Amino acid sequence: MRVRRWIVLSLVLAAAPGWGAANVHDYRVTVAPDLSHLTVRAQLASPVSRLRSRDREAQRHTRNVIDCGEGTQRLAVSGRTLRSRDATCIEYEYDLTAERPRSRRRSYLLQFPDNRLVSPASWLWLPRLDADTEIRVRFDLPDGVNVSVPWLPIDDEGENAYRFGASPASSEAIAVFGDFSYREIAVPGATLRVTLLGADDASHSGDLISWLRAAAGNVTQVYGRFPNPSPQVIVVPISSWGNSAVPFGRVIRDGGEAVQFFVDPSRSLADYLGDWTATHEFSHLLLPYVEGRQKWISEGFASYYQNVLMARSGAYRETKAWQKLHEGFERARTEPLSAPNDARSRMMVYWSGAAIALLADVALRLEAPAQSLDGLLDRLQACCLPSERAWGGEELFTKLDQLGKTEVMSGLYGRYANRAGLPDLTALYDQLGIDVRGGRVVLNDAAEHAALRRAIMAPKYSPTASRAR
Ligand SMILES: [Zn+2]
Repeated sequence: MRVRRWIVLSLVLAAAPGWGAANVHDYRVTVAPDLSHLTVRAQLASPVSRLRSRDREAQRHTRNVIDCGEGTQRLAVSGRTLRSRDATCIEYEYDLTAERPRSRRRSYLLQFPDNRLVSPASWLWLPRLDADTEIRVRFDLPDGVNVSVPWLPIDDEGENAYRFGASPASSEAIAVFGDFSYREIAVPGATLRVTLLGADDASHSGDLISWLRAAAGNVTQVYGRFPNPSPQVIVVPISSWGNSAVPFGRVIRDGGEAVQFFVDPSRSLADYLGDWTATHEFSHLLLPYVEGRQKWISEGFASYYQNVLMARSGAYRETKAWQKLHEGFERARTEPLSAPNDARSRMMVYWSGAAIALLADVALRLEAPAQSLDGLLDRLQACCLPSERAWGGEELFTKLDQLGKTEVMSGLYGRYANRAGLPDLTALYDQLGIDVRGGRVVLNDAAEHAALRRAIMAPKYSPTASRAR
């Protein structure tokens, strides 16, 4: 079992600038050639009395703050507030050399001397945002320096221009400046913007790209396209953690959606392709950010889909996918009794949610031949993703029901979300033909709904690989 302790994310709601907003604040960020600092010039749509940073430490690294509309009048920074005295042009420098990770778990940020990794939550001083306001950020980069941010690129404004989107700010995004390897991976519905840190070896970089392409391709097996059109993906080599090719990953929703992976660079391509972590993390993008107390929904759906999609792609045989789901359910069953909405144990959070996803998928498929969990998520993406806000669990299930003209999801939420213990799957196993002998799953194709069971795990779109093992 892999440790994913970073996934517990706190929630800070950001206000929402709208698309086609009336007020556009233009930020121009010039990166020093030696990566020592950023010079940020904010041209504001209207006079602003103060800017704010989300980082309490930001003032220590912010210097030479001036009102650039009125010559060079100095402005004061105190705590997380920059008093801008109704200025419409504000310029400041942000020192990148003094940046230090605020906790030990960020110490990996220090290991790339040719790069600076620093959260926009620290260096981006922002005015209050409302529905009529948006922020555009353009980077001026010296030769040999790239930038990676999770924000959506603005295609019609040339290179390195982005729209800073509203988001749940589930954690702090990372911006990378420096001499890193940048690649774009096209999959149906999306172009992944991939930053490979410390990947100097071309063949290793090629392996990482092949692995990410396959994992993103797995997620397109849900409804034929990737759920986010342009996510930021950051791959960080790390050798001293875990015992697998991808010891952990996480999704960050802060100004845009980002997925970070920590990989063991000594592993082979086969090891990466057999690892479920990337399929799990990308599967999180099938749902919006769900409020912290109901992590069982996001973790449960991702845990269900990681196995379903590894089977659909051919990385797992059908039996292996059911075996792994079964083992997850058994691990949760031995935990102290708690309801999904109150679950404290990791096993309960992940696998009670996966059990409810499985129950939902089967109930939907039995309700109508064209219905499935895939189908509901397809409609959810079309209407609502990527989402700029956090959702409640009950709200999400109700929305899925509306989209599918069904009551299956709310029914399951009402029955299980606040009931202690893992849902009983005995009848479902019988119907699907999932027999368990001595802890091993044996599939019974004579069962009443064996065809439905096979359909869940079968490829839907021309498979990108056939790597059964
Ligand atoms: Zn997860």
